[in-house]
Amino acid sequence: MTTFSELTTMRVGGPIGELARARSAQELVDLVRDADAEGRPVLVMGGGSNLVVGDQGFDGLVVQTAAADIDVRGEFLTVGAGAAWDDVVVASLAAGLGGLEPLSGIPGTAGGTPVQNVGAYGTLTSELLHSLTVYDRASGEVETWGPEHCGFVSHRQSAFKHSDRWVVLDLTFGLRRTTKSAPIHFADLAARLDIPTRQTAPTTAVRTAVLGLRSERRMVLDPDDHDTWSVGSFFINPVLTEVPEKAAACPRYPDPAGIKLPAGWLIDHAGFPPGYGRRFGRGTVALSSKHALAVTNRGGATTADIMTFAAHVRDGVEKAFDIRLGPECDLVNCAFDETGALA
Ligand SMILES: Cc1cc2nc3c(=O)[nH]c(=O)nc-3n(C[C@H](O)[C@H](O)[C@H](O)COP(=O)(O)OP(=O)(O)OC[C@H]3O[C@@H](n4cnc5c(N)ncnc54)[C@H](O)[C@@H]3O)c2cc1C
Repeated sequence: MTTFSELTTMRVGGPIGELARARSAQELVDLVRDADAEGRPVLVMGGGSNLVVGDQGFDGLVVQTAAADIDVRGEFLTVGAGAAWDDVVVASLAAGLGGLEPLSGIPGTAGGTPVQNVGAYGTLTSELLHSLTVYDRASGEVETWGPEHCGFVSHRQSAFKHSDRWVVLDLTFGLRRTTKSAPIHFADLAARLDIPTRQTAPTTAVRTAVLGLRSERRMVLDPDDHDTWSVGSFFINPVLTEVPEKAAACPRYPDPAGIKLPAGWLIDHAGFPPGYGRRFGRGTVALSSKHALAVTNRGGATTADIMTFAAHVRDGVEKAFDIRLGPECDLVNCAFDETGALA
């Protein structure tokens, strides 16, 4: 029996009741519609790079998206939900279309990108998305939405984030026919490109620079490197209406819903630096050695180990700053509600 530990990048999680791969949008709709009609629980997943499932697994139908067609028409690129995201970026550049290059190297599928409005180096999915097709499990209808319909209201939020009502079938990105990037605002990326911030660079050079920076931070999947056995950022950057006194020194950024604080800074400054955790438990879980935001499986971790460790970090941050961190990834049949007392 297949387990989630085989299908997710954190490599934890128990057995899958029944696994199906949907090779077309129609197959995806049919599988979900039939399971709903029978009253069976359904979980739709892509690359498992933002998903942690409990050790008891999922007793129902898990549908992996596998429709991977990529179609370019003029400045529009349409992709099936199951296309590997980085293949989409490569195809866009090969077609002479610019815009997606800052999102190079992000694991997972195209269908996963609107779920948490995936972003990197100052570019968000929502800024380049022209439209998407969804299957509405409540009405049984297939609908086409513009980005304004998707609930991209705040950092990493969308209509899809805390709801399994809609299944993303395909997405169309509106790009620019250019080999020149948009102005680069990220200082690290500009430095790597050897240009001042706010200048542009060749799109292919931006891709190479982004992949280099991501590799150094272990944000590109590598099966031999436990720093990448993660979901990327485990904790979401908190968005607050008021910053607690204890967190006065924390950098802050504007967000449509309030003030966004970097969770990585809070974790690091609460006494959990990169690499923290190896002394604890059975040595199966620790923060990435490169940055404090990624909880990583050092080999042999269970979901329970991950949850206990996440609760321990969350409690330490709350004690230090009066801010309670929540997960950025989707937790299915697991939670870190308990106090994180480590053995
Ligand atoms: C090393 C590493 C680096 C990362 N770097 C970044 C980064 O820079 N920026 C960033 O934003 N994220 C990053 N991530 C997180 C992750 O890669 C993205 O969130 C990705 O888009 C998830 O896609 P997926 O196909 O793997 O989704 P999954 O993990 O399979 O699923 C995640 C959620 O989306 C839902 N879902 C998936 N497909 C569909 C669909 N077709 N319709 C409806 N719901 C669906 C699932 O039900 C689940 O709730 C990183 C992760 C890792 C492991």
